[in-house]
Amino acid sequence: MTATEPQVLIVGAGPAGLAAAVTAARHGAQVLVVDEQARPGGQIWRRPDPDAGGPDPLAGPAYDAGRALLARAAAHPGITFAHDTTAWGVFGTHTTPDGFAAPPGTPVPEGPRVAVHGPGGVEILLPRALLLTAGAYDLPVPVPGWTLPGFFTVGGIQALLKGHRTLAGRRIVLAGAHPLLLIAAAQLVRAGADVAEVAFAQGLPGPTELTRALAALPGNRAKVAEGLAAVRTLRQAGVPIHTHTLLLRADGEEHVTTAVLAGVDRNWRPVPGTERTIACDTVGTGYGFVPSTELARQAGCEATWNGPAGGWVLVHDHAMRTTLPHIWAAGELTGIAGAEHAVAAGKRAALDICRSLGLLDGAAHARELPSVERELAATTRMARLLEHTCAPDRAALNALAEDDTLLCRCEEVTYGQIRRTLRDNPGLGTADAVKLLSRAGMGPCQGRMCGPALVELLHEETHIPREALGPFTARPPIKPLPVAALAAAHDAGTHEPPNPAGPETPR
Ligand SMILES: Cc1cc2nc3c(=O)[nH]c(=O)nc-3n(C[C@H](O)[C@H](O)[C@H](O)COP(=O)(O)OP(=O)(O)OC[C@H]3O[C@@H](n4cnc5c(N)ncnc54)[C@H](O)[C@@H]3O)c2cc1C
Repeated sequence: MTATEPQVLIVGAGPAGLAAAVTAARHGAQVLVVDEQARPGGQIWRRPDPDAGGPDPLAGPAYDAGRALLARAAAHPGITFAHDTTAWGVFGTHTTPDGFAAPPGTPVPEGPRVAVHGPGGVEILLPRALLLTAGAYDLPVPVPGWTLPGFFTVGGIQALLKGHRTLAGRRIVLAGAHPLLLIAAAQLVRAGADVAEVAFAQGLPGPTELTRALAALPGNRAKVAEGLAAVRTLRQAGVPIHTHTLLLRADGEEHVTTAVLAGVDRNWRPVPGTERTIACDTVGTGYGFVPSTELARQAGCEATWNGPAGGWVLVHDHAMRTTLPHIWAAGELTGIAGAEHAVAAGKRAALDICRSLGLLDGAAHARELPSVERELAATTRMARLLEHTCAPDRAALNALAEDDTLLCRCEEVTYGQIRRTLRDNPGLGTADAVKLLSRAGMGPCQGRMCGPALVELLHEETHIPREALGPFTARPPIKPLPVAALAAAHDAGTHEPPNPAGPETPR
């Protein structure tokens, strides 16, 4: 393996990427793992610089597996980590240099070219196999007041706590529909925060859900135990947990000072007369996650709409191969299913990659497969259960925004402006078309914040199915990149202009 020609390149050092790296390295693969964070661990196993001292956010039995995997990955000589390194484009699949789809008949290259930007500048990596494990991010839900300082997603609050040992605020209201609210609330209580309330929009599980939960228990006891322990912590601290309760808005002049909640019916519609106001300086919402498919879609991998699994998810086969040769995917970007599923899928992808690279013969592959398949099956049962009980009611959430609520915070486009754009242009039928006319999605986050909300608004206004509205087209660079870094790489000759990579692509 050379620095720029890793045998296996993994984008993302979360549970899926780490499990894949350890499995592939165990079978002799030389693996390079790039991650834009300073340390491996992804979202769930995020932690501050261990040398800085202080309590480890990954202490306790819920993180035993994570700590063990992190240690194995760090110790394996076949695995190299590139931290603070962002993969911002994949070329030479069937995209042209500017990220547009190449015409049919373009020769399939021998492998992708992956453009990364890290401490050493811009580089083009030429892996023989590329595994995308870019994970997910919190589903942003715009409500009045959501752009006020002090308004977070629950994952953001948790990232501050885990990654920087910092409390997002003093008195915190958490609201949404995802069990991460309970986990984060318990972590906040243990760290000394005053959690004023945890509010769930849905009701308590009924007999059907409980039966399904029992069926999902085998293989997922640790997950359930973590949830129960969190509830216990909150009860002991006297934190109220309400169901059938929705956050309507946050108020404040220059910072959040109150959260307004209301009781809701089974369809998450507010019940008149149930509004109440809670004094707080911080609000965190947790309605689930959005798969980070941008890099894969920019490369040309096919994605499909699956609302309960997070929205646009990558199409893949039983061995985690995407629709493009040489590119595999595992973890949340194939559908939100939790860390344990990400680990199992990472292993599954790594086995197939090793098989395709000739590192694993048929007999060894067959020997390893059954236990991984069992892990996948068990964790899939839990994922389906969570989809059934916790999927956000997107229509009800869309109804919370008012005309002057910002939808795209980068470009400052409101719900009212989008509605007017639609009224003035009745033929608009895709998210991209609305983006071109309104600028929503054109800012630095490239639609990661507003994309899901825009699709929902368009769906409500036009009745076009969400899957037909499409995600925003993903273009390189998929994340902000200093122009100076590109220029420096070009001047130094380290950055060949990406091209459609025909058969003559250097390997
Ligand atoms: C903010 C947040 C907090 C969460 N906390 C919990 C929790 O406490 N408990 C729980 O059970 N679940 C939690 N989840 C759910 C979580 O996504 C999964 O359970 C698990 O972390 C998924 O593993 P993964 O490997 O698929 O992805 P992730 O853990 O998300 O890892 C993906 C990695 O890819 C990196 N990455 C992404 N794009 C690029 C790129 N272009 N270039 C370089 N690197 C890139 C990211 O920095 C990240 O480290 C959280 C999710 C989020 C978004």
